[in-house]
Amino acid sequence: MEMFCYQCEQTWAGRGCDKLGVCGKDPATAALQDLLVYAIKGISQYAQRARAIGARERDVDVFVIEGLFTTGTNVNFDPMRIEAMLRKAVAVRGKAQDMYECACRDAGITPEEPIGPARWQPAATAMGLLNQGINAGIFERRKAFGDDLAGLQEMLTYGLKGMAAYADHALALGKEDDTVYAFVHEALNYLAQSDPTSDELFALNMKCGETNLKVMEMLDAAHTGTYGHPVPTPVRINALKGKAILVSGHDLKELDELLRQTKGLGINVYTHGEMLPAHGYPGLKKHEHLVGNYGTAWQNQTLEFDAFPGGHPDDDQLHPAAAGELYVTNFQYRAGRLAGRDPHPKPGFSAADPGGTC
Ligand code: SF4
Repeated sequence: MEMFCYQCEQTWAGRGCDKLGVCGKDPATAALQDLLVYAIKGISQYAQRARAIGARERDVDVFVIEGLFTTGTNVNFDPMRIEAMLRKAVAVRGKAQDMYECACRDAGITPEEPIGPARWQPAATAMGLLNQGINAGIFERRKAFGDDLAGLQEMLTYGLKGMAAYADHALALGKEDDTVYAFVHEALNYLAQSDPTSDELFALNMKCGETNLKVMEMLDAAHTGTYGHPVPTPVRINALKGKAILVSGHDLKELDELLRQTKGLGINVYTHGEMLPAHGYPGLKKHEHLVGNYGTAWQNQTLEFDAFPGGHPDDDQLHPAAAGELYVTNFQYRAGRLAGRDPHPKPGFSAADPGGTC
């Protein structure tokens, strides 16, 4: 099965990963992620119309953010989890539709019946979903809309994915903004339209940039309000003897949860790739077992994770649904889940490793 993903700057030869992702993403994951974005557009077709007459549901808003975040560059490479999200998306879309039609009844309005993603029904089998995902991908949109419109649609989609990642992290720390949800629905609803124009897509891209600044401010306030203002901090890049956990991504809340739950267990925690800045936050650097940074940039994670001699939270000792997310910080650590347990059957760094660059 071939794939096509050009979601990030590491894409193969600057043209798109078409056999396997440089980052390790496989073709099934790529197709299902495209399909999840398609399914989420269907939710927003109803949510946007409901908002226009004053109705909203926070569960629906939050699911759309989580779903977009799931399709981010290195967030989730597990096709089974994405399939589960797809099936949940249909239920959430039903909820959004009910909300919209109920609000219409209350307002004495005849509800619209949006087409496209709003009518999508998931295939019964995994193979059927993959085929649906291929049909939801960039090639079909280029055929339908041409390169310019499809390109503007893609730019907006990637902007929304990035926004969703940061909105999700801010939400984990208790910060959210309804105007962000409103914009996400507005943009996704437009992306579901069968007759987009370049002017309107361009305007939505500009608005996406503005809204993203708001989300970045919200996330910064969440980070600094919770963990203090980051300060320049030297970071160890060689290994310490002992058991180890490696954490990637950029969700400080999840790193914090992990650090709290591993306190006193004799396990050293290392950051990887985009998690490196975590070392500067006073509320995180105070943990003595946050000992250093391992490896290089995020796109080398599949190789470097394999080489890492520590354990990882895909064992059922941590999060049972995390298989396929080795070291990626999309885990939902459950309070106390690690308490009294040794999550790491792997030996960690041996006496021979310390001193070497990790
Ligand atoms: S996200 Fe992965 S598969 Fe997609 S372009 Fe980037 S490296 Fe390639």
